[in-house]
Amino acid sequence: MSAAKATKKIDIGVLGATGVVGQHLVAMLAGHPRFRLTWVGASERSARKRYGELPWRVTRTLPVEAKRLIVNSLIAGSAPKILFSALDASVAGETEVAFAAAGHIVVSNARNHRMDLCVPLVIPEVNAEHLAALKLQRQQKGWSGAIVTNPNCSTVFLAMALAALREFNPQKVVVTTMQALSGAGYPGVASLDAMGNVIPFIAGEEEKIENETKKILGRFNGKEFTPADVQISAQTTRVPVVNGHTEAVSVELQERAAREDIIRSFEKFMGRPQELALPSAPKRPVVHFESADRPQPRLDVEHFGGMAVQVGRVRECPVLGHKFVLLGHNLIRGAAGAALLNAELMHAGGLLN
Ligand code: NAP
Repeated sequence: MSAAKATKKIDIGVLGATGVVGQHLVAMLAGHPRFRLTWVGASERSARKRYGELPWRVTRTLPVEAKRLIVNSLIAGSAPKILFSALDASVAGETEVAFAAAGHIVVSNARNHRMDLCVPLVIPEVNAEHLAALKLQRQQKGWSGAIVTNPNCSTVFLAMALAALREFNPQKVVVTTMQALSGAGYPGVASLDAMGNVIPFIAGEEEKIENETKKILGRFNGKEFTPADVQISAQTTRVPVVNGHTEAVSVELQERAAREDIIRSFEKFMGRPQELALPSAPKRPVVHFESADRPQPRLDVEHFGGMAVQVGRVRECPVLGHKFVLLGHNLIRGAAGAALLNAELMHAGGLLN
């Protein structure tokens, strides 16, 4: 391969580029070694405006090359072949189907198609092999493009921690989340509801954690997904934290494991992104803290580029056997970075051609 061909970047578009996840995607695509952002799309409220003139609401820098892009209406067929979707769920379902039918490969953050029987729901370190479902998807849906999804943000972190413990065969899981305000998008939860408060309900979130985790940890045999045989009970809360979902997890393992065994499994956990040295892959997908009062969202959420799940307080649980606390960046490993890593994995596997 010539040097010019080897460095040729793939044009990329972002559906929903004006939201908090979309803005993180735009920021993370700046200087990307494989991809080049050439197109942004959003609602008619933003369409035809210059991207750099719209409010920028995230702490990462707005890339110069994105500033000059004009925001497009969401017309299938008029965008680059490879698209990330950070669309609101109210429109993502139909819009993503229209783009996939028109030949686009849509790598989506939205919930709408995650549990579809022929849509891969992928965390590259955990179930990269589920991308094989794209063949089934083409046969069943008749799309010339495709849809690949990444999980709900809290689900990503839990599924990665459980995948690290696969050798001990997790049987029962009880998880309580403390989820950041940015998880609700912009403008999200009203300040009078959020400040100094804990809201013990996030619509649909508990079901997503319980169902999506089983699909991710389950198997795909070329024809169908078989969910993992693990019982999961989730309670989700919204807390006045800007970025970073914390989860308190108790787990019953089929195989005996000491605290040290669990910590070792977290520390040695690796997957395809690390083997392939994908550009957005964290060196270690799960990082263990020994200090009793960590991880904390304010102090730790930005570590490891937001791409690692941080685990602490591994200890005995008198009810289920083991418990620990984990933290993940909802907008990065839980959303934009998750989609980017999926696209990098697909690129490495020749699935973006
Ligand atoms: P957000 O800040 O509310 O952004 C939503 C995006 O969708 C904006 O670009 C918006 O465009 C666009 N949109 C809204 N209504 C539309 C319509 N009728 N037609 C066309 N475009 C429309 O939401 P977000 O937090 O970035 O979330 C984006 C997606 O990622 C959602 O599906 C969400 O569930 C999922 N997700 C979010 C997180 C998180 O932590 N926030 C984590 C995982 C997954 P305008 O700006 O033009 O209105």
